[in-house]
Amino acid sequence: MKRRAFNTKLSKAVGGIALVSNIPLACAFENQENQKSLGIALVGLGTYSTYELAPSLQETKYCHLAGIVTGTPEKEIIWSEKYNIPKENIYNYDNFDTIIHNDSIDIVYVVLPNAMHADFCIRAAKAGKHVICEKPMAVSSEECQAIIDTCEKANVKLSVGYRLHSEPHTQEIQRIVKEKEFGKINFITTEAGYPSYGNPDPGQWRLNKALSGGGALMNMGVYAIQGALYGTGENPISVTAQEFSTNPDYFKDTDETITAQFEFPSGAIGSIFTSHNAKADRLYASCDKGWFELDIAYTYGPLHGRTSKGNEIVFPHKRQQALQMDDFALHITKSLPNKVPGSMGLRDIIIVEAIYQSIKEGGKKIALDL
Ligand code: NAD
Repeated sequence: MKRRAFNTKLSKAVGGIALVSNIPLACAFENQENQKSLGIALVGLGTYSTYELAPSLQETKYCHLAGIVTGTPEKEIIWSEKYNIPKENIYNYDNFDTIIHNDSIDIVYVVLPNAMHADFCIRAAKAGKHVICEKPMAVSSEECQAIIDTCEKANVKLSVGYRLHSEPHTQEIQRIVKEKEFGKINFITTEAGYPSYGNPDPGQWRLNKALSGGGALMNMGVYAIQGALYGTGENPISVTAQEFSTNPDYFKDTDETITAQFEFPSGAIGSIFTSHNAKADRLYASCDKGWFELDIAYTYGPLHGRTSKGNEIVFPHKRQQALQMDDFALHITKSLPNKVPGSMGLRDIIIVEAIYQSIKEGGKKIALDL
């Protein structure tokens, strides 16, 4: 089915829900007057901030790039010139806490190596700033809980950088699941990975457990877990997992490839694959009355999918991170639902811990109570 035909049919079929799927949520408010744009400060100006978040913040409607926090003085100059950031909105890791006095920063977005997330999220919350924490939320469930507790105590909002919850193809999968369009889901398989060979820095932090908390599972694995959960609409009740290493000399400190199987309360079975040694980017669900899939499921887009009805799942492409940050801004200013609350980041790290436990115990089935 051609894109326009599919989209028209979808709009007619599911009314308001399709509208939210088809048109970015933010658009629904674009004509509202006096909508405050929230100031975001990015903490950590590495690859993701440079090539995804800062460009996305040029497309957002309800938030803007207001400040930066960096440990590299040269980046202060480059970023302030490129994005017109005033001197008083530039911080380093040491003077970061003085951000408490800066009213032009509403949200702090932590984009550092995983093991640094908890420290900076907690400091941001204590400074009275709303917080977006990149994925994985932290390197342990205790750290995730500490972030949640600090944000609650400081009365600030908290979200995790799972950009796909604001992404229309993913929202369409969530709609299909919610409305049981293909009946009961019996099996889901989700795969997310990419080879990390060829990185010019073999000592990159993702291969260093002290900074990453783990390898492929902590990196793309959380996306595979996410896909299995929003692709069934359920939390798993057990997990069994296996680890494979084809190149132990390269992956000395962190996991290269992990597979895991979930049991869900409905009886559905899930299988996930994640790797730092193979490209994988898919979600497929087999149901009583057909199937649905995203065959580009986790990357920055455009995503793509199809169903057993012959439909292509295709929506116009927008930067996912712009949609994500606008959704969070509207959660703060308009009390719209928080699409990715801290509890979701914590839930996923509890699952990650259970997967590592299963591997450690030789593939034992680990019960989950989420
Ligand atoms: P990166 O290595 O490109 O950048 C990391 C930044 O942290 C750099 O600016 C570096 O200078 C700084 N840093 C401070 N202390 C450091 C230390 N001790 N070691 C290494 N770097 C240090 O990483 P990235 O790809 O930008 O990832 C940052 C975070 O964003 C990670 O948590 C990652 O999982 C997350 N991320 C999320 C997505 C997504 O799709 N949501 C995509 C990419 C990255």
